[in-house]
Amino acid sequence: MVPPSPTNTIDFDAAKLQRLGFTGSRPPSLQPVTLLQLRQQLSLQLQTSLDVERILRLFFSEVQRLVSLDALAYHYQISDLRLELGERANHSAAYRLSHDGEYLGELIFRRKVRFEDEELAQLESLLASLLFPLRNALLYRSALQSALRDPLTDTGNRIAMDQVLQREVDLARRNLQPLSLLMLDLDHFKQINDQHGHGTGDEVLRAVATTLKSQLRNVDMVFRYGGEEFLVLLSGTCREAAAMVGERLRYAVLELQCMDQGRAIELSISLGCSTLLPGESAESLLRRADNALYVAKRDGRNRLTMAG
Ligand code: GH3
Ligand code: MG
Ligand code: MG
Repeated sequence: MVPPSPTNTIDFDAAKLQRLGFTGSRPPSLQPVTLLQLRQQLSLQLQTSLDVERILRLFFSEVQRLVSLDALAYHYQISDLRLELGERANHSAAYRLSHDGEYLGELIFRRKVRFEDEELAQLESLLASLLFPLRNALLYRSALQSALRDPLTDTGNRIAMDQVLQREVDLARRNLQPLSLLMLDLDHFKQINDQHGHGTGDEVLRAVATTLKSQLRNVDMVFRYGGEEFLVLLSGTCREAAAMVGERLRYAVLELQCMDQGRAIELSISLGCSTLLPGESAESLLRRADNALYVAKRDGRNRLTMAG
């Protein structure tokens, strides 16, 4: 089949935007518009993206064709998303956003000059064009996030780990910064499952993950590598500092008080640590941490072994 020639295709949204005096390639026009025109334009324009930040930036710049603003702040507690656009100013108008009863975050307009009632009414009317695109972008963001997380332990999954590890290796090499890995595995976890049941085993995994995250600066760098195995990525961390972090994690897990029907569950972890060598690949760094973990297990468990 012959593809339709470009002259036969009409992008209705783009055509309408052009009629309303807006083209994507030009910077936003600063000519005055009516509230109705701006609402129509915004509802088309904001639908062109699924990125929350881009949508809010567009909204912030376009709304100013009608109401001048100094700043816009947005906070969505559910996934701890925060954005601050523009420069802080004294006067503010805050809105709790929701669509069909679904919470969509808090939005604050700020300005050096007090808002007039009519301006507030205009802003509120324009906010209506933001809700639907914002809701779609938040849904998309949450789908992307859950595709990269392990649901049981709320740590990164293998897909996330592969992406982040490669990125951190590239960054470390470019910035000549150290990078270390801790590969850790729960000791005799099979026994815990056998003695206390799989459900309790799951609880233990969750508790260990929470402990690891509570001991680390950057919780986004903990990944569930396998069943009862985790990987901790320590960017900007040299061998000695990584060893200290590893020992801290080992003690924290030892001190974890996990109970099953009044019985204490004894827990420990073994760890292998590797630090990026000049020119080393992500795979090799990972392999050396894994080999060091194997040695820690072989030598009796509940210990940290440094890769050679
Ligand atoms: P070692 O000290 O050598 O690591 O011994 P281990 O018993 O921890 O290691 P092994 O590899 O023999 O057993 C790991 C166990 O982890 C077996 C598997 O059933 C269990 N496991 C893996 N994933 C999960 C999970 O998501 N939940 C639970 N409850 N158990 C899991
Ligand atoms: Mg184990
Ligand atoms: Mg294991």
